[in-house]
Amino acid sequence: MKPHPCGFRGDARHECVCTDVKVLSYRSKLSGPLLDRIDLQVEVPAVPYKDLKAETGRVDSALMRSRVLGARTVQTERFTGTNIRTNSQLSGKALGVYCPIGEDCHRFLEMANQRLGLSARAHTRILRLARTIADLDSMTDIRVEHLAEAINYRNLDRQGAS
Ligand SMILES: [Zn+2]
Repeated sequence: MKPHPCGFRGDARHECVCTDVKVLSYRSKLSGPLLDRIDLQVEVPAVPYKDLKAETGRVDSALMRSRVLGARTVQTERFTGTNIRTNSQLSGKALGVYCPIGEDCHRFLEMANQRLGLSARAHTRILRLARTIADLDSMTDIRVEHLAEAINYRNLDRQGAS
C-alpha cells in the first residue's frame, strides 16, 4: 500500500501536502484487525535511479540464502513430530513452548506494549518474528534485540500509536 494518500511521504524529491485529517481517514480504511494479520509492515522509501543501479551496498543474496536455509533447517528440527512446520504457524500454547523468553525480554515487551498499545495478535506476531530473527542469527534463545527488530517490522502498529 501507499503509506500516505499522496504517496510522497518519505520521498525527498516530493513534498507531502496531506492534512492530518486526510491521513487519518486514509489510514482508518485499514482496520486494526486486518493489520494484525500482516506479519511484516515495513516502509519502503522511493529509491532514486542512481541507487537502483549502484552495485555497492547490495545485500549479498548468496549469504542471505544460506541464512534462510539454515533457519528453515532449525525449524524443521524444532518441529519434528508435530503438525507445525514453520514459526509462522505458532500460536497459543505452542508459542509459549517454542518461544520462551527471559525476564529482560518480558520487561522489554511490557514497555513496548505500554508505549505502542499492541494488540494480542500483534504481540503474537512479534514473538514469532523474533523467533525467526533469532533463527536467522543462529541463536537458541530469543533476545531483546530480536524483539526490538521484530517490532521495527511492525511499522503501522508503531505509527498508529503516535
Ligand atoms: Zn502525504
